[in-house]
Amino acid sequence: MTMEIPNPTMPADSLVDLGWDPGWAAAFLPFDAAGLVPARVVAAHRDAWVVARPDVAPDASATVSGRFRHEAYGPGDFPAVGDWVAVAASTGDGSPTVIQAVLPRRTAFTRSAGEERVAGNLVAEQVLAANVDVAFVVAGMDGDFNLRRIERYLAVAWSGGATPVIVLNKADVAADADGLRVAAEAVAPGVEVLAISALQGDGVEPLRDAHLGRGRTAVVLGSSGVGKSTLVNALAGAERQRTAAVREDDSKGRHTTTHRELVRLPGGALLIDTPGIRSLGVAGASDGLDPAFADITELALACRFSDCRHAAEPGCAIAAALAAGTLSPDRLASHRKLEREAAHVARANDPLLRAEERRKWKAIHVSVNQHMRHKYGDDR
Ligand code: GDP
Ligand code: ZN
Repeated sequence: MTMEIPNPTMPADSLVDLGWDPGWAAAFLPFDAAGLVPARVVAAHRDAWVVARPDVAPDASATVSGRFRHEAYGPGDFPAVGDWVAVAASTGDGSPTVIQAVLPRRTAFTRSAGEERVAGNLVAEQVLAANVDVAFVVAGMDGDFNLRRIERYLAVAWSGGATPVIVLNKADVAADADGLRVAAEAVAPGVEVLAISALQGDGVEPLRDAHLGRGRTAVVLGSSGVGKSTLVNALAGAERQRTAAVREDDSKGRHTTTHRELVRLPGGALLIDTPGIRSLGVAGASDGLDPAFADITELALACRFSDCRHAAEPGCAIAAALAAGTLSPDRLASHRKLEREAAHVARANDPLLRAEERRKWKAIHVSVNQHMRHKYGDDR
């Protein structure tokens, strides 16, 4: 790599529009020294990427370098939507962009990749979206309104490292929007709650003003039917329609049509909207449970025993809060359920834990068998 390729066609401003800030600039220094330029991943496919780079308009299809591929350990190391990457400066001849490195992610939304093996290694995680600042947790204020679901998506938002904002949608059909807002605030300590009607556009501007400033990166989470697409359309408007389809050449020179997954919104923010993010469940969001249930986490610190299981132990602060009515039994049950689900996923993905589980069950099995034999004899 030769040094010093001045790039007068890259206005620093357009990097800021993509979410660039002094922190990224600092992280990029070694790549800058190597003559590389920054770009942001706007679409990711199995083996092909689209990047926005200010020196090539509007977007460029990209591959990863042979060295990158060689050194990557698993899917989690490959570029994901929202990643900042280091690419070779444009030569101006339209040759494909080659990604040399991914800048360390600040945050990531991940999904367990099950038992997929890459080069013999079990791969736990696939990155669905990187470097997201804000996550809109959308719920509909209609017959489907469900606090437990809001708690779930809050855990997902926190686990992705994004600041959650609860968006109570369908205000136009809500019987008691204020009541639902108070209920949502109660399950989301410290989280902002906004009521909107994405369909009618009410409350969309305040949401944009408060959370979608220039260079901010957002995702929209929530169950099917709550109005995510309607909100995305209201936020992106014509922009989305115009940029949705990008024609790409894949690595074998075939034309494929791909959807841009990171969309620039009017007003300067960026929105990551992919099928993966849309269907992201709580599985694997265990890091998000503590912040999503900060009230319970804090109560548990006040239990007399540090290993209190909150099952009738003396001095249990959670039992006291239940008795006093300051903690709802539904919320506690919801926390337990999500913890079990997260633990289940952790076991399924961790070969060591899985082996340990198997040993444990085997031991239980043996002891049950011995017990039965003792009680009923061998011919039961
Ligand atoms: P998604 O599955 O979360 O993407 O939800 P959609 O955006 O597809 O919306 C599901 C349904 O709810 C559609 O029929 C929308 O028209 C409707 N919807 C979305 N937002 C609103 C709203 O603010 N008010 C009302 N009354 N309906 C809405
Ligand atoms: Zn306790």
